[in-house]
Amino acid sequence: MADSPVSCTIDLTADGKQAGMLRLPRSSNQSGWSNLWIPIVSVANGDGPTALVIGGVHGDEPEGQVAALNLARELVPEQVTGRVIVIPCASPEASRAYTRLWPSGANLNRSFPGSPTGPRDEQLAHFLSTELFPLADVIVDIHSGGRTALCLPWSEMHWVEDAEQRRQMVDGMLAWNTDWCCVYIDIGGTGLLVGEAERQGKIVVSTELGGGGHVTAAIHRLAASGLANVLRHFGVLEGDVVARETPPTLLMATELDNYLLAPESGLFETLVDLGQRVEDGQPVGRIHFLERPDREPETILARNAGVVCVIRAIATTDQGDNVVVIAREVDRSELE
Ligand SMILES: [Zn+2]
Repeated sequence: MADSPVSCTIDLTADGKQAGMLRLPRSSNQSGWSNLWIPIVSVANGDGPTALVIGGVHGDEPEGQVAALNLARELVPEQVTGRVIVIPCASPEASRAYTRLWPSGANLNRSFPGSPTGPRDEQLAHFLSTELFPLADVIVDIHSGGRTALCLPWSEMHWVEDAEQRRQMVDGMLAWNTDWCCVYIDIGGTGLLVGEAERQGKIVVSTELGGGGHVTAAIHRLAASGLANVLRHFGVLEGDVVARETPPTLLMATELDNYLLAPESGLFETLVDLGQRVEDGQPVGRIHFLERPDREPETILARNAGVVCVIRAIATTDQGDNVVVIAREVDRSELE
């Protein structure tokens, strides 16, 4: 395969604190000779694990970007055993536009494992997959529902087949100390960052911290405290691991039926709230038809009993858009 066109301006093998850039070739109508710079910070101190922390894979999810910026700015080598590499925002052009996708229309989270000869998102994905993931023991990828969805704030993981990798991922998920933790599948396609990291055997910790187009102070605090506690849990950050006083609610949304899709285009009305427990067959939302006030709205029914964990945040809805996710409550033994 061709060499990566992406370069990194800092030496990731060196001790101490460094801030630099990943540089991607860019040529635009505004600048024929240009680079897209993606800031990267490394804080390293001797032998120990490496954690790679990534925010802003999606531009309309500021929770992780803010937490990662605060971590990158405040962290000093004396607090670290091993190495913490932080990319506060992997999609800076999308973040500036406050959009999920890149201005090119690319979804960086559908670009993995990437290609050195593909479009820029694939070049970045390829560099992360081949140059940064191999350095890491733990990869933290912080997401939220963005503008389109409101999620219960949760830490999350995919089901991975390797029992030891899965055990460590469950422990990492629990270390965020969210009230809810969710095992999920991705119904939006392949090419996820976390999927490639998992394929490489990495311990992957991810989140969906709220969303709906705004961030509360409580969510910022949860992003910061959870991220720090995960890094402590894996031994890369100094300080005592904080344990919850009560166990979190464990959720599993690994069946297609958990993800309810709009049967028609229209205006979405939710009939349920986040965290609400619903029965199989219970109405959870309705699609209204602006052009047909005489028409009864189309009712969307739960396909399983469980907890409402995602509600669509944009009322205007196209056929096939996810409007509600209902996860099944599980206990810890089902994750083993
Ligand atoms: Zn996201």
